[in-house]
Amino acid sequence: MHLKNVQPNAIRMRRMLEAVMAQGVTDQKVLTVLGSIPRELFVSKALATDAYDDACLPIGELQTISMPSVVARMTAALELAGTEKVLEIGTGCGYQTILLSKLCRRVYTVERHKSLSEAAVKRLHDFGITNFTPLVGDGTLGWPAQAPFDRIIVTAAGPWVPAPLIDQLAVGGILVIPVGPQETSQKLLKIRKISATETTEENLGPVAFVPLVGQQGLPQTNRA
Ligand code: SAH
Repeated sequence: MHLKNVQPNAIRMRRMLEAVMAQGVTDQKVLTVLGSIPRELFVSKALATDAYDDACLPIGELQTISMPSVVARMTAALELAGTEKVLEIGTGCGYQTILLSKLCRRVYTVERHKSLSEAAVKRLHDFGITNFTPLVGDGTLGWPAQAPFDRIIVTAAGPWVPAPLIDQLAVGGILVIPVGPQETSQKLLKIRKISATETTEENLGPVAFVPLVGQQGLPQTNRA
């Protein structure tokens, strides 16, 4: 199926964008791209009527598509001009990937669940997206062969910032990542690499993400 020309439901989308703006997102480019993507095509048909709520929804493998307001806040925090090489950890259903693909030069996206990666790749191709490269593997180790990256976004939460991601971030680059315990909430960090050895860190507030599972993250359990 070709999804390129499918338009989001106008009324529901307006409500979704209002909810996103109510969470403080003002970046017009991000809002425009968000408003152009029919979110219901990233979840199962049974969830289509909920797809424009500002809520996370199940996508299989016990994972979730993130809340639109969180996706928008993270995307805005990346300060994309359109020329960047971006690393995304946690492809999931590909919703964040498609937004990134429309706002940067190329997205390198890593997912640990093969089934999710394959479904996301198919969906992105159906949308006519070609400026992305998928990988199935442990994103906590980054993607050394493709480094450095101008931006890195992590859409799952671990106990610390994986060192390989800082190493693979270009000087002047930005990393957006949730960090903290699963039991409560995590903090969303915006980390800027200001020199080869120095970073600055801004806390963008509390968020709730699924576990970042990997060598530089949490151990695998039957819930991840
Ligand atoms: N951005 C996604 C969010 C999916 S939830 C979306 O909009 O759909 C987070 C995803 O991160 C899950 O699919 C999970 O399987 C994946 N993940 C968790 N740990 C990972 C790791 N170490 N490497 C790659 N992907 C990981």
